[in-house]
Amino acid sequence: MAYKAINPYNGELIKEFPSATKQDVEHALATADQYYHAAKTQSYDERAHQLQKLATEFRQNIDQYAKPLTTNMGKLFSEAQGEVEKNAAFAEYYVKHGAEALQNISYNDVPDKTAYVEFNSIGAIMTVEPWNFPYTQVMRVFAPNFIIGNPVILKHASIVPECAMAFASAVEKAGIPAGAFTNLFVDHDQVEQIIADHRIQGVALTGSAGAGNQVAAQAGKYLKKSTMELGGTDVFIVLDDADLEAAIKGAVAARLKNAGQVCTAAKRFIVQSNYYADFIAGLSTAFAKQKLGDPFAAETTLAPLSSKKAQQKLQKQVQDAIAGGAKLLWGDPTPIEGPGAQFSPLIFAGIQPGNPLFDQEFFGPVAQVYQAADDAEVIKIANNSNFGLGGAIYSADLERAKRLASQIETGQIALNQPLNSYPNFPFGGVKQSGYGRELSDFGIREFVNAKLILY
Ligand code: NAP
Repeated sequence: MAYKAINPYNGELIKEFPSATKQDVEHALATADQYYHAAKTQSYDERAHQLQKLATEFRQNIDQYAKPLTTNMGKLFSEAQGEVEKNAAFAEYYVKHGAEALQNISYNDVPDKTAYVEFNSIGAIMTVEPWNFPYTQVMRVFAPNFIIGNPVILKHASIVPECAMAFASAVEKAGIPAGAFTNLFVDHDQVEQIIADHRIQGVALTGSAGAGNQVAAQAGKYLKKSTMELGGTDVFIVLDDADLEAAIKGAVAARLKNAGQVCTAAKRFIVQSNYYADFIAGLSTAFAKQKLGDPFAAETTLAPLSSKKAQQKLQKQVQDAIAGGAKLLWGDPTPIEGPGAQFSPLIFAGIQPGNPLFDQEFFGPVAQVYQAADDAEVIKIANNSNFGLGGAIYSADLERAKRLASQIETGQIALNQPLNSYPNFPFGGVKQSGYGRELSDFGIREFVNAKLILY
């Protein structure tokens, strides 16, 4: 499989990279294993110091690291700069709090026994990551596992090879020892061979449910612990007492950030009847103001999609949804011709069961708006999905919003703000959105041996 950097704004091939050989894979596994054993006698403090150097390397060279995000997957340059900063913040969280989350836990409630659990490293982790946040997705896995002492081998998405190389180069510049992190340009079959290897003890994948299905099956086959961070059809709920203006502002950001290519982007808007027409009017007015263009240009507000393939896939989903009876409320679904991957925003009425696109993830600037008569209907629509990643609820009554949040089957819900990720809070989903948690103290305990010592 070819790892190719192609600029999605103009379709130009930037660079192609050779695939990893069998020898490259063996070398990565051997050095990871050596690192795993060497790290057992090293302190958390020593590794926290090295991780801080990595964060500083990103912070001191924001534009340099932001550039390949924009050229490889089309992210607006301002958003790319923001991702580099967030990437550093994810690392710094584990610099400050990693060791704390790995402190022993004592059990004192058995009269003649003393017991505690300590957290040990387990070995190398194979991570498979997507292109939509090419640095932060990798850092979510690397930073906590580095503090623990688990080496990480990365298979990045094949369309962002320069981002994978830039991350690996930052790790090297920070003086992090060989074997702690290795980027490999491997294909899907090689991923399975790596997972099967006895030196790999964990598998962390972020990507679509389809990829999760296949890689989780491999992890299960070889009895490797896994985490799956998969797709979503997240709801954005506007209750009848919400601040409509704030809700519309949040809705636009929640649907269009990163050109709509965010796992927790708002994909299904559920609006109570009193606001339905005004919400659609407000959303369409804001969508109409979006400026497609060069993602490096300050005036561009909507970036191209990540690739021509992504554009064509979304286009086909839109056509199939319309053919299946979906009602287009606003926007022009005519494909944008040319070598770039631009996509104009669209607003559909809520897609109904029976339409082949019902409960499918639209990974781009395509919104669908459902109308709900009351809170019970809101919950019914929200939970009528096989996915369960995130969501947002807008209401003037915080207690009402919390009650609804408790009934929604997702891993996370934001109230009166678009859902975002923060290093201090756990991130993950339920149902087909996967299992396990990243970030926070939850994230650092995914790949540990929670070992009981009893006397
Ligand atoms: P994707 O096609 O599933 O690819 C994700 C990664 O998995 C890529 O590195 C891909 O490699 C690899 N991959 C796919 N099938 C594989 C297989 N059978 N064996 C080994 N590796 C395999 O997803 P994407 O289009 O890059 O990313 C978008 C998806 O990720 C969306 O569904 C989004 O919601 C989800 N996502 C979830 C989260 C979360 O935290 N829950 C965060 C971000 C994104 P190749 O590129 O070489 O195919």
